[in-house]
Amino acid sequence: MFDYSAYLRNEKLPHIWCAGCGHGIVLKSLIRAVAKTGWDKNDIVLVSGIGCASRLPGYVDFNTLHTAHGRALAFATGVKLANPKFRVIVVSGDGDALAIGGNHFIHACRRNIDISLIVFNNGIYGMTGGQYSPTTPEGDKAATAPYGHIEPEFDVVSLAKGAGATFVARGTSYHVPQLDDYIYKALVHKGFSVVDVIEACYTTHGRKQKAKYKDNLDMLKWQRDNAVPLATAQGMSPEDLKGKIVTGIFHEADRPEFVESCLSLVSRVTGGAR
Ligand code: SF4
Ligand code: MG
Repeated sequence: MFDYSAYLRNEKLPHIWCAGCGHGIVLKSLIRAVAKTGWDKNDIVLVSGIGCASRLPGYVDFNTLHTAHGRALAFATGVKLANPKFRVIVVSGDGDALAIGGNHFIHACRRNIDISLIVFNNGIYGMTGGQYSPTTPEGDKAATAPYGHIEPEFDVVSLAKGAGATFVARGTSYHVPQLDDYIYKALVHKGFSVVDVIEACYTTHGRKQKAKYKDNLDMLKWQRDNAVPLATAQGMSPEDLKGKIVTGIFHEADRPEFVESCLSLVSRVTGGAR
Protein backbone atom coordinates (compact mmCIF):
# COMPACT_ATOMS: atom_id res chain seq x y z
CA MET A 1 0.00 0.00 0.00
CA PHE A 2 1.17 3.53 -0.80
CA ASP A 3 2.85 5.16 2.20
CA TYR A 4 1.50 8.72 2.29
CA SER A 5 3.05 9.33 5.69
CA ALA A 6 6.50 9.48 4.07
CA TYR A 7 5.35 12.69 2.32
CA LEU A 8 3.35 14.26 5.13
CA ARG A 9 4.16 16.27 8.22
CA ASN A 10 2.10 13.83 10.22
CA GLU A 11 2.33 15.96 13.36
CA LYS A 12 0.29 18.67 11.55
CA LEU A 13 -2.69 16.35 11.06
CA PRO A 14 -5.66 16.29 11.26
CA HIS A 15 -6.08 18.88 8.54
CA ILE A 16 -8.55 21.77 8.77
CA TRP A 17 -10.66 20.91 5.71
CA CYS A 18 -14.39 20.18 6.01
CA ALA A 19 -15.72 16.66 5.53
CA GLY A 20 -16.41 16.18 1.83
CA CYS A 21 -14.00 18.89 0.70
CA GLY A 22 -12.14 18.01 -2.50
CA HIS A 23 -8.78 19.32 -1.28
CA GLY A 24 -7.75 16.10 0.48
CA ILE A 25 -8.37 14.12 -2.72
CA VAL A 26 -6.16 16.47 -4.73
CA LEU A 27 -3.49 16.43 -2.00
CA LYS A 28 -3.22 12.63 -2.25
CA SER A 29 -3.20 12.81 -6.04
CA LEU A 30 -0.35 15.32 -5.91
CA ILE A 31 1.62 13.11 -3.51
CA ARG A 32 1.22 10.05 -5.77
CA ALA A 33 2.27 12.12 -8.80
CA VAL A 34 5.34 13.42 -6.97
CA ALA A 35 6.23 9.88 -5.88
CA LYS A 36 6.04 8.74 -9.50
CA THR A 37 8.56 11.39 -10.56
CA GLY A 38 11.10 9.89 -8.14
CA TRP A 39 12.16 13.42 -7.14
CA ASP A 40 13.96 13.97 -3.86
CA LYS A 41 11.60 15.70 -1.42
CA ASN A 42 14.37 18.18 -0.59
CA ASP A 43 14.42 19.39 -4.21
CA ILE A 44 10.73 20.31 -4.19
CA VAL A 45 9.37 23.72 -3.20
CA LEU A 46 5.60 23.88 -2.78
CA VAL A 47 4.20 27.40 -2.71
CA SER A 48 0.71 28.64 -1.88
CA GLY A 49 -1.15 31.92 -1.38
CA ILE A 50 -4.16 32.24 0.94
CA GLY A 51 -7.32 30.19 1.23
CA CYS A 52 -8.40 26.67 2.16
CA ALA A 53 -6.30 25.03 -0.60
CA SER A 54 -3.38 27.21 0.37
CA ARG A 55 -3.15 25.44 3.73
CA LEU A 56 -1.92 22.35 1.87
CA PRO A 57 1.83 23.12 2.03
CA GLY A 58 1.60 22.97 5.83
CA TYR A 59 0.83 19.26 5.63
CA VAL A 60 3.53 18.03 3.23
CA ASP A 61 7.16 17.32 3.95
CA PHE A 62 8.69 19.36 1.11
CA ASN A 63 10.24 22.82 1.26
CA THR A 64 7.10 24.92 1.64
CA LEU A 65 6.06 28.57 1.45
CA HIS A 66 2.66 29.85 2.54
CA THR A 67 2.60 33.39 1.17
CA ALA A 68 0.18 36.29 0.52
CA HIS A 69 -3.23 36.16 -1.12
CA GLY A 70 -2.86 35.82 -4.89
CA ARG A 71 0.92 36.11 -4.80
CA ALA A 72 2.01 32.46 -4.81
CA LEU A 73 3.19 32.59 -8.43
CA ALA A 74 5.21 35.74 -7.75
CA PHE A 75 7.02 34.06 -4.83
CA ALA A 76 7.41 30.85 -6.84
CA THR A 77 8.96 32.80 -9.73
CA GLY A 78 11.51 34.25 -7.31
CA VAL A 79 12.32 30.80 -5.92
CA LYS A 80 12.80 29.29 -9.37
CA LEU A 81 14.99 32.18 -10.55
CA ALA A 82 17.10 32.08 -7.38
CA ASN A 83 17.69 28.33 -7.63
CA PRO A 84 16.62 26.78 -10.93
CA LYS A 85 17.41 23.28 -9.58
CA PHE A 86 14.30 23.40 -7.41
CA ARG A 87 11.15 21.68 -8.66
CA VAL A 88 8.60 24.40 -7.98
CA ILE A 89 4.91 23.60 -7.59
CA VAL A 90 2.13 26.08 -6.77
CA VAL A 91 -1.22 25.12 -5.26
CA SER A 92 -3.91 27.78 -5.47
CA GLY A 93 -7.66 28.15 -5.18
CA ASP A 94 -9.72 29.69 -7.97
CA GLY A 95 -10.04 33.06 -6.23
CA ASP A 96 -6.37 33.11 -5.27
CA ALA A 97 -5.13 32.05 -8.73
CA LEU A 98 -7.54 33.90 -11.00
CA ALA A 99 -8.85 37.01 -9.21
CA ILE A 100 -6.28 38.42 -6.78
CA GLY A 101 -3.55 36.49 -8.58
CA GLY A 102 -4.96 36.85 -12.08
CA ASN A 103 -2.15 39.01 -13.41
CA HIS A 104 0.53 36.71 -11.97
CA PHE A 105 -1.30 33.82 -13.64
CA ILE A 106 -1.31 35.29 -17.15
CA HIS A 107 2.28 36.48 -16.95
CA ALA A 108 3.57 33.16 -15.62
CA CYS A 109 1.85 31.54 -18.62
CA ARG A 110 3.35 34.11 -20.97
CA ARG A 111 6.87 33.66 -19.60
CA ASN A 112 6.64 29.88 -19.73
CA ILE A 113 8.57 29.57 -16.47
CA ASP A 114 9.19 25.97 -15.40
CA ILE A 115 6.62 25.86 -12.60
CA SER A 116 3.53 23.65 -12.22
CA LEU A 117 0.30 25.26 -11.04
CA ILE A 118 -2.54 23.16 -9.65
CA VAL A 119 -5.77 25.18 -9.51
CA PHE A 120 -8.13 23.85 -6.82
CA ASN A 121 -11.19 25.03 -8.68
CA ASN A 122 -14.28 24.72 -6.52
CA GLY A 123 -15.89 27.84 -8.00
CA ILE A 124 -16.04 29.82 -4.75
CA TYR A 125 -13.97 31.64 -2.15
CA GLY A 126 -14.16 28.98 0.57
CA MET A 127 -12.12 30.26 3.49
CA THR A 128 -13.07 33.91 3.18
CA GLY A 129 -16.80 33.24 3.41
CA GLY A 130 -18.35 32.03 0.17
CA GLN A 131 -18.00 35.07 -2.07
CA TYR A 132 -18.28 34.37 -5.78
CA SER A 133 -15.00 33.85 -7.61
CA PRO A 134 -14.01 34.10 -11.30
CA THR A 135 -15.14 30.49 -11.78
CA THR A 136 -18.45 30.51 -9.93
CA PRO A 137 -21.00 29.14 -12.41
CA GLU A 138 -23.31 31.81 -13.79
CA GLY A 139 -26.62 31.74 -11.95
CA ASP A 140 -25.28 30.12 -8.76
CA LYS A 141 -25.92 31.79 -5.43
CA ALA A 142 -23.03 33.01 -3.28
CA ALA A 143 -22.57 35.17 -0.19
CA THR A 144 -22.05 38.12 -2.54
CA ALA A 145 -24.68 36.97 -5.07
CA PRO A 146 -27.76 36.08 -2.98
CA TYR A 147 -30.05 36.29 -6.04
CA GLY A 148 -27.74 34.41 -8.40
CA HIS A 149 -24.43 35.28 -10.00
CA ILE A 150 -24.73 37.31 -13.21
CA GLU A 151 -21.15 37.09 -14.51
CA PRO A 152 -19.98 34.36 -16.88
CA GLU A 153 -17.11 32.26 -15.49
CA PHE A 154 -13.55 32.05 -16.73
CA ASP A 155 -12.60 28.99 -18.71
CA VAL A 156 -9.26 28.32 -17.00
CA VAL A 157 -8.05 26.09 -19.82
CA SER A 158 -8.69 28.70 -22.53
CA LEU A 159 -7.18 31.42 -20.38
CA ALA A 160 -4.00 29.39 -19.75
CA LYS A 161 -3.66 28.38 -23.39
CA GLY A 162 -4.31 31.90 -24.65
CA ALA A 163 -1.77 33.40 -22.24
CA GLY A 164 0.94 30.97 -23.34
CA ALA A 165 1.14 28.04 -20.87
CA THR A 166 2.78 25.05 -22.54
CA PHE A 167 0.93 22.25 -20.72
CA VAL A 168 -2.76 22.64 -19.91
CA ALA A 169 -5.08 19.95 -18.55
CA ARG A 170 -8.37 19.71 -16.71
CA GLY A 171 -9.47 16.94 -14.37
CA THR A 172 -11.89 16.49 -11.50
CA SER A 173 -11.62 15.31 -7.92
CA TYR A 174 -13.95 12.41 -8.85
CA HIS A 175 -11.81 11.00 -11.70
CA VAL A 176 -8.79 10.32 -9.55
CA PRO A 177 -6.53 8.02 -11.68
CA GLN A 178 -6.93 10.50 -14.55
CA LEU A 179 -6.04 13.36 -12.21
CA ASP A 180 -2.90 11.53 -11.01
CA ASP A 181 -1.83 11.24 -14.64
CA TYR A 182 -2.46 14.90 -15.48
CA ILE A 183 -0.60 16.14 -12.40
CA TYR A 184 2.32 13.80 -13.08
CA LYS A 185 2.56 14.99 -16.70
CA ALA A 186 2.36 18.62 -15.55
CA LEU A 187 5.17 18.08 -13.05
CA VAL A 188 7.57 16.55 -15.56
CA HIS A 189 6.69 19.04 -18.33
CA LYS A 190 9.41 21.61 -19.05
CA GLY A 191 7.75 25.02 -18.94
CA PHE A 192 4.66 26.47 -17.27
CA SER A 193 2.02 23.82 -16.70
CA VAL A 194 -1.52 24.29 -15.43
CA VAL A 195 -3.91 21.62 -14.15
CA ASP A 196 -7.43 22.92 -13.57
CA VAL A 197 -9.02 20.60 -11.01
CA ILE A 198 -12.79 20.86 -10.74
CA GLU A 199 -13.75 20.02 -7.19
CA ALA A 200 -16.37 20.75 -4.56
CA CYS A 201 -16.98 22.98 -1.56
CA TYR A 202 -20.35 22.10 -0.07
CA THR A 203 -19.82 24.27 3.03
CA THR A 204 -19.86 27.65 1.30
CA HIS A 205 -21.09 26.87 -2.22
CA GLY A 206 -23.03 23.62 -2.56
CA ARG A 207 -25.42 24.26 0.32
CA LYS A 208 -26.60 27.49 -1.34
CA GLN A 209 -27.64 25.60 -4.51
CA LYS A 210 -30.50 23.64 -2.93
CA ALA A 211 -31.97 22.68 -6.30
CA LYS A 212 -28.69 21.14 -7.46
CA TYR A 213 -27.09 19.45 -4.46
CA LYS A 214 -28.51 18.07 -1.24
CA ASP A 215 -25.09 17.21 0.20
CA ASN A 216 -21.39 17.04 -0.61
CA LEU A 217 -21.76 13.58 -2.13
CA ASP A 218 -24.15 15.08 -4.68
CA MET A 219 -21.40 17.46 -5.74
CA LEU A 220 -19.11 14.51 -6.46
CA LYS A 221 -21.90 12.78 -8.37
CA TRP A 222 -22.32 15.97 -10.40
CA GLN A 223 -18.66 15.69 -11.46
CA ARG A 224 -19.13 12.01 -12.27
CA ASP A 225 -22.23 12.65 -14.38
CA ASN A 226 -21.11 15.79 -16.20
CA ALA A 227 -17.48 15.17 -17.08
CA VAL A 228 -16.92 14.69 -20.81
CA PRO A 229 -13.57 13.55 -22.21
CA LEU A 230 -12.06 16.00 -24.69
CA ALA A 231 -12.30 13.55 -27.61
CA THR A 232 -16.07 13.16 -27.01
CA ALA A 233 -16.57 16.89 -26.49
CA GLN A 234 -15.05 17.63 -29.88
CA GLY A 235 -18.08 15.99 -31.50
CA MET A 236 -20.64 17.86 -29.37
CA SER A 237 -22.40 21.17 -29.99
CA PRO A 238 -21.89 24.21 -27.71
CA GLU A 239 -25.51 23.74 -26.48
CA ASP A 240 -24.84 20.12 -25.53
CA LEU A 241 -21.64 21.14 -23.75
CA LYS A 242 -23.35 23.76 -21.58
CA GLY A 243 -22.82 22.85 -17.93
CA LYS A 244 -20.42 20.02 -18.78
CA ILE A 245 -16.86 19.65 -17.53
CA VAL A 246 -14.58 18.89 -20.45
CA THR A 247 -11.57 16.92 -19.18
CA GLY A 248 -8.30 15.98 -20.78
CA ILE A 249 -4.95 17.34 -21.86
CA PHE A 250 -5.80 20.35 -24.00
CA HIS A 251 -2.39 21.65 -24.91
CA GLU A 252 1.25 20.57 -24.90
CA ALA A 253 3.92 22.69 -26.57
CA ASP A 254 7.62 23.19 -26.54
CA ARG A 255 9.00 26.73 -26.49
CA PRO A 256 11.82 28.58 -24.68
CA GLU A 257 11.59 28.40 -20.91
CA PHE A 258 11.99 31.63 -18.93
CA VAL A 259 14.79 30.71 -16.51
CA GLU A 260 16.91 29.24 -19.28
CA SER A 261 16.35 32.39 -21.33
CA CYS A 262 17.40 34.52 -18.32
CA LEU A 263 20.57 32.47 -17.75
CA SER A 264 21.45 32.64 -21.42
CA LEU A 265 20.95 36.42 -21.38
CA VAL A 266 23.21 36.76 -18.32
CA SER A 267 25.85 34.62 -19.97
CA ARG A 268 25.67 36.68 -23.16
CA VAL A 269 25.89 40.00 -21.31
CA THR A 270 28.70 38.95 -18.98
CA GLY A 271 30.58 36.93 -21.55
CA GLY A 272 30.10 33.86 -19.36
CA ALA A 273 31.98 35.50 -16.45
CA ARG A 274 29.19 34.91 -13.96
FE1 SF4 B 1 -13.13 22.85 1.60
FE2 SF4 B 1 -15.04 24.67 1.34
FE3 SF4 B 1 -14.53 23.65 3.75
FE4 SF4 B 1 -12.78 25.30 2.57
S1 SF4 B 1 -14.85 25.84 3.26
S2 SF4 B 1 -12.29 23.38 3.63
S3 SF4 B 1 -13.00 24.75 0.41
S4 SF4 B 1 -15.34 22.52 1.95
MG1 MG C 1 -12.20 28.25 -4.31
